[in-house]
This record gives sequence, C-alpha cells and structure tokens, in this order.
Amino acid sequence: MSELLNQSVTELKGVGIKMAENLEKLGIEKVQDLLFHLPLRYQDRTRVYPIASTQHAQEVLIVGKVEHSEIIFKHRRMMTVTLSDGSGYITLRFFHFSNAQQKGFSRGAQISCFGEVRIGTHSREMVHPEYKIIKTDEPLQLSEKLTPIYPTTKGLQQRSLLRLVGEALKQLAKLDDLIPSNIIQQYKLSELTDALLTLHQPSSEISANDLLERSHPAQQRLVFEELLAHHLSLRKLREQQKQVAGIALKTSGKYSAKLIKSLPFKLTNAQDRVIAEINQDLQQASPMNRLVQGDVGSGKTLVAAAAALNAIEAGYQVAIMAPTEILSEQHFKSFSEWLKPLKLKVTLLSGKQKAAEKRDALENIALGLTQLAIGTHALFQNDVHFKNLGLIIIDEQHRFGVHQRLALREKGKQAEFYPHQLIMTATPIPRTLAMTTYADMDYSVIDELPPGRTPVKTVVISNTRRAEIVERINHVCVDGAQVYWVCTLIEESEALQCQNAEETWELLKEALPELTIGLIHGRMKPDEKEAIMTDFKASNINLLVATTVIEVGVDVPNASLMIIENAERLGLAQLHQLRGRVGRGSKASSCVLMYQNPLSQNARKRLEALRNSNDGFEIAQIDLEIRGPGEVFGTRQTGELQFKIANLLEDQELLPQVQQAAQQIITESPNSIEPLIDRWIKHAEDYAAV
Ligand code: ADP
Ligand code: MG
Repeated sequence: MSELLNQSVTELKGVGIKMAENLEKLGIEKVQDLLFHLPLRYQDRTRVYPIASTQHAQEVLIVGKVEHSEIIFKHRRMMTVTLSDGSGYITLRFFHFSNAQQKGFSRGAQISCFGEVRIGTHSREMVHPEYKIIKTDEPLQLSEKLTPIYPTTKGLQQRSLLRLVGEALKQLAKLDDLIPSNIIQQYKLSELTDALLTLHQPSSEISANDLLERSHPAQQRLVFEELLAHHLSLRKLREQQKQVAGIALKTSGKYSAKLIKSLPFKLTNAQDRVIAEINQDLQQASPMNRLVQGDVGSGKTLVAAAAALNAIEAGYQVAIMAPTEILSEQHFKSFSEWLKPLKLKVTLLSGKQKAAEKRDALENIALGLTQLAIGTHALFQNDVHFKNLGLIIIDEQHRFGVHQRLALREKGKQAEFYPHQLIMTATPIPRTLAMTTYADMDYSVIDELPPGRTPVKTVVISNTRRAEIVERINHVCVDGAQVYWVCTLIEESEALQCQNAEETWELLKEALPELTIGLIHGRMKPDEKEAIMTDFKASNINLLVATTVIEVGVDVPNASLMIIENAERLGLAQLHQLRGRVGRGSKASSCVLMYQNPLSQNARKRLEALRNSNDGFEIAQIDLEIRGPGEVFGTRQTGELQFKIANLLEDQELLPQVQQAAQQIITESPNSIEPLIDRWIKHAEDYAAV
C-alpha cells in the first residue's frame, strides 16, 4: 500500500490545523479516508439545458442572452435579470449584488448559469445562481464529469473537499482491494478502484439520476463492502465479548422445573426451545449476550423467569430491568408469586420509593438477602451494589444500543467476571436486518403464540361514532370481560396527557354509570398505580382509562376490548404494542382505532396496516418502510451505525450475501478483517474496547 494513503491528511498541501480539525469531524484523518468519503449527490454541469425544457426543482446549467435587467423593490431591494435562449425565458433574482455585477448584465451579454429552477405561476426563475459572463471570443467551458457534492461541515467548502479528494485519487492505483478475489467473482462485484473513481468523478455518460437511485454497479460494490465492514465489526465485537470471563452457571434446573410444573398451561415449543438456548449460554464461562424476540403475548416473561431461576439456583443474583414503573410493579407481583413457593426473595427498586423503603431494598441487594431485584433503570444507579450478580435481564428495551448494554454489563462486573445478559423485545426485527444490526448478539425468536388465542379483530373508525363505542363497552362488560380506553395527546407534556385522561374518565363515568371505571396515568403515586392495576387484574374494575403508560408489558388476560383514542397520533410499533394488551387470553378480542379527521396519508397507511395484520413481523416491515430504520431501531442506526453509502432498508436484499461473505472472510482471510473495518468505520475500537 502507498505510504501517502496511510499518512495524515496534513501531509497534503493546504491542509492546516483548522482544516484538519474540520476533516476530522467528518471522520477523515488519513489520506485514504478521503477516498471513502463518498458524495451525497451530484450536479450535472456537463451539458446545457434549453430553458423551456427545465423542470421545477431541477438543478441545471443554462446559457442565455440578457434581455433586460433592473433593480426593483418588492418587499426588499433586488436585482432581476431576464435571460432568453430562444426556447424560453428565465428570471434570475439577486438580493445581494454589487454595482459591478449589475453592470455585467448589460443587454445582449451571454451568461451561463447554474442553479435550481423554480417554476411559479407566471415564470421560471433561479435565485442567486452561480453564473459566468461568456466573452464572445471564448468558448463555453463544460465539465467532463458530474460534479460530486460531499457531506461537509461548517467551515469546510465543497471546493476544498473536491481538491483534496482529487489529491487522494492520484494514489488510487496503490489502494488494496481487501475483499478476496473469489468473493469478488462470486458476487460479481466491480473493481474497488473503478468503483471509487466512478463515484468521485462520474463521467458525463452516467446520469446523475442513476447515481441518485444508487443502482449503479459502482455503488452496489461499495454498499456491499460497507455492509460487510459493519457486519465484520459487530462479529468482532461479539468475539471480544466472548473472550472476557463470565460465570458458568451450572444447575440441575430444579427451580425452573418446579415453576413450570406449577403453571396451569404447558409451555409452547418455542418457549421450551428458547429456554434451552439460554441455558446453554448460561453454562458457559463467557458471558451470554442474547436477544430474545417474541411478538406481544408470546410469553417472554416465563422465558425470563426460567432463566432467572437457573441463575438463582446456581447461587447468583438476577436483575430484571423494565422500561416503566407499571411494568416493573407487575413483574414484581408475578415473580414474587412464582418465587414464593421456592422460598426466594424478590425486591422492587423504584425511582419513587420512600427513603426508608429504598434503603431497605438497597441493603437487601447489597447483602445478597434478595435473589431477584426488579426495577426500572433505577436498578443501575450508582447507589445500587449487588452482592453477586450473575444475570441481567432487560425487558422490552430493543432501543438499547451497544454502548448502553456494555455499560450495564460493566456495572455488574465482579472481579474479572461479567454477568450474563438477556434482552427481551417484542419489536420484531426483520430477519435480514437482525443478522446485520444485531450481529454482536446471539438471537432467539419465540415464533409461536400460546394455543387457543384468537387474533385480535381491529377496526378503524372516526370519533364521530364515539357513542356507539361507549354502548359497545357496556355490552362487553356485562359479559364479564374488561376494557382499556387509551387516551393519547400529541403534546409532549405529561401533565396535559394526564389531565386529558382525567376528563375522559369523568365523561365515561357519566355515560356508563353501572360500570366501575378506573384511571391510571404517569402522575399517580406508585402505590396508587399498583392498587389500580391490582384491582383491574382482579376484575374489580370493568373499564380502565389510561394514558400510554400501559403500552408495554401489561398483562390482564381477561381484557378483551381496547379503544385507542386519536390513534392517528401514534406510530405503528406503539399501536401494535398497545393492541397487544388484549387478545392475551382465550376470549375473542377487539381493538378499536378511533381517529380524528382529517387523516394524513401516512396516518391512514398506519391504521390500515394495523387493521390488516396482527403479525408483528409484517407490521415492522411496513413501519420500516414508512419511517426508516433509524427511527425504528433508535440509536443503533442513527448514532452508532452510520453508513456512508449503504441504506439498511433499501439494501436489505444484500444482507444474506453479506453475511455469507463475512463468514468466508472470517474463515479464509481473517487478515482482511481489521483493515476492512478500519477503512469504513471510524472509532469502531471505541465500542469494542468497553
Ligand atoms: P409477552 O411476550 O408479551 O411479554 P407475557 O409473558 O406477558 O407475554 O405472556 C402473555 C400471557 O400469556 C400471560 O398471561 C402468560 O401467563 C400467558 N402465557 C405465557 N405462556 C403461555 C403458554 N405457554 N400457554 C398459555 N398461556 C401462556
Ligand atoms: Mg412482556
């Protein structure tokens, strides 16, 4: 490899400290990094467009004669210049201009202009285009290549980037292709150097649009390589995590067997399988790092319980972290019941506990008097010390990024030993995406619902039919079933949400005087919330009015009707989670998505998707299409997994091949792994080093 490619960008002419700092913000440190700093889009200055053929919002080069120019006052002072090229007219508009500029636009002067065309009601125009006056004896200079536009940062001009990339391209022939040639042949990948040259300096035969659609073989090659680098980096992270010391939890499984025997039902095959997969991990002397995915209602809690009991039987403590207070309280109740016959102690740690209660809880945890601690993120605050933590279970937290998980694991570290980690999520991750974005973890799926469930019937109706729905609640409750009414508000303010729920509660109490109607929201005290949930579980409450605090995990199998007010305000994943609160028993259940007109296009799509499917995987796929992976998976894509050219959604179909190729590289050419990661991912070592 060339010396220069491996050296700092400061070796290039004109790169001083300031510029080097700016380049570093873009992840460019070595000269080689410039080659992998790929354009966002392209401008076409290779041809002149007839004015009349230009379209709105198109960026084009035009050439015309000045017909007229003047200074006018329309809201503010501006100069307008009318050009014509025989095919049509266009007006150039300038808000800042000098006298000299004004003089240049003399009638009859030939001007070439590059900018974005706007087509208004009366005419075409360009605001502040780049322009040049063409002297009569000088031919028009056209670019031979499309002009790349690079991602940049404040204080760094396109011109500088263009020049520096040009310098780096001079070394292109010396760049090694790190993908072994058999893989290149097998997947019909373009040459690396050709691909880079094409993307940095596309010839005029390539249309800027083809490049925009990312279908060019040059792009496909680099997309493949980038996905490969990411995949390899996660695989490496996973290997490194396996290198650290864990605690082999050897058990006979007698505690979990006892619990399972005491249940009124049999575990599903999927539950059995996943429990076995987890046990396998727990017995290893390297820490487990496993993601369990199971759609709402698939019975993840029992899988967590079986894992917890095995760790406890081996003599270690377990921590279960839930995303909400309500869910951690519910887990506290179920686990207390399950662990009581085994004479084991469960402790709840809540952010809102009284000082004395909290002190007790902390003491129990620190002295090892409790075997199982349950709580929200309060569990991992600084004042919490475990005596011997063997397993961390994180419920419903798929948005946990690599960093957060590693930090949590660090918290449970004792001497050189790390605890095992299990993450449970209902958010279905399309298989192909899981293989890439979660390649640092092992992955189990509970792909089966307990028998006897009837799918939830979903209806979408306007809130003008509220009275009918209220009537329906009455029927359902008379039959002995229970109902949720979920209030949503677009305001971020929790106070407003709670107030809105209170008002709805009052209205429903008036409309349905025979029913017992409860209210639950985030501003109530923990013991108030607990009391309401206990009453609802015991069927002492017919109808529960709630904010979205009940979104995840809440389990009351006798509830068979859910009404979501202003459902159009929520995202698909959230709606699917909420709907998952019903249909958990054997009763036929329904979900009413009530909306307020007018419905936006996207909102209509979401509600329809939900009406047409109960399958979390299908819904996740649609959600991905509507919102994109960054939104759906949180920081994993937006922060830690940032791509230069790949797009997880659009390039999904490449992922199985990428995974295969990664496996080949791992076994056949492991020496390529490190340089490939280094080439594409800056600071991968940061999250690998934790
Ligand atoms: P989730 O996967 O959404 O966390 P839960 O663990 O809360 O689901 O389980 C949903 C409901 O199904 C609970 O009431 C639970 O008791 C019940 N359940 C779990 N496993 C089974 C099973 N194998 N057969 C019947 N019911 C089950
Ligand atoms: Mg759950």
